Amino acid sequence: MNEHQPALLSLIGNTPLIRLRRVSELTACNILGKAEFLNPGGSVKDRTALGIIRDAERRGLLEPGGTIVEGTAGNTGIGICLVAHALGYRTIIVMPETQSREKKDILRLYGADLRLVPAVPYADDNHYTKVARRIAEELQQRGQSAIWANQFDNTANRRIHYETTGAEIWQQTDGQIDAFGCAVGTGGTLAGVAQALRQHGRNVKIMLTDAMGASLFHYFRDGELRAEGSSVMEGIGQSRITANLEGLDVDDAFQVSDAEALPYLYDLLEHEGLCLGGSSAINIAGAVQIARVLGPGHTVVTILCDIGSRYQSKLFNPQFLRSKDLPVPAWLAASD
Ligand code: PMP
Repeated sequence: MNEHQPALLSLIGNTPLIRLRRVSELTACNILGKAEFLNPGGSVKDRTALGIIRDAERRGLLEPGGTIVEGTAGNTGIGICLVAHALGYRTIIVMPETQSREKKDILRLYGADLRLVPAVPYADDNHYTKVARRIAEELQQRGQSAIWANQFDNTANRRIHYETTGAEIWQQTDGQIDAFGCAVGTGGTLAGVAQALRQHGRNVKIMLTDAMGASLFHYFRDGELRAEGSSVMEGIGQSRITANLEGLDVDDAFQVSDAEALPYLYDLLEHEGLCLGGSSAINIAGAVQIARVLGPGHTVVTILCDIGSRYQSKLFNPQFLRSKDLPVPAWLAASD
């Protein structure tokens, strides 16, 4: 990092590791969550944004005032706006229109040039990542300084998690950690943290927790990229081996449905005052499964990826939940 780093950027990372009391009691384990929702942009993806932008600068790919283009489910876009604008770059953010209204509003608030596109499969030419790539290439052809951040296949993403998230977890647990597990979007978090923890030996089990509709559970269990079901959780659910995932081997993989995960989200809000997003619910449900496999007395770490207020119109909205046949907690139904 250079000495002219804006103060805001020094707030990224070094998040606390907090004990999730009720799931720890439930499993007689120590289940700890890395409080990534405390990053200034409200999610784990601030780290990715900082890692990718600093890497592009180091490689001489960005000139002052240049443009950073990215395709995102929202959080990486928010992180990129925050970091880029603090450093004097412009941003163009391409996002599938199916993502939460709140994330779109935050992006507009941060001054992103937001381009919403239909949600289409990865193979489609109009997939949001490919639209972002084309926009960056067109700017470059016009002689402008521009990069496509490419969080899925740019390994500066997993590197920042290796250097920061993983190193912090090892330090915060004094190496007393039995397993780490989380869901995958780009794979940057899981692969980077795995690399940092395994540097200290193979004692720490690395576990994947997949939401339904994602293909990695079957890939790691039986070598086949295959999915079943679907999930309303945003920011996770991968169908291919991204460059960030290449070379990663996990000790085991778990699969969690939305109906299984959401009660943990509501329970945390009701009893521990923590308001988290849907991918955190998948991660916590996965941590419970991991703890059950390991047995009492173990320490399991996962990621609390982003804040729940980002999904108020979905995961905390009885009408939305009913429309997806998902359970509505009593306290939420009462406010209907
Ligand atoms: N949860 C949320 C809310 C996210 O936005 C993301 C990033 N897409 C993830 C989890 C997954 O993190 P990663 O991309 O590092 O796999």
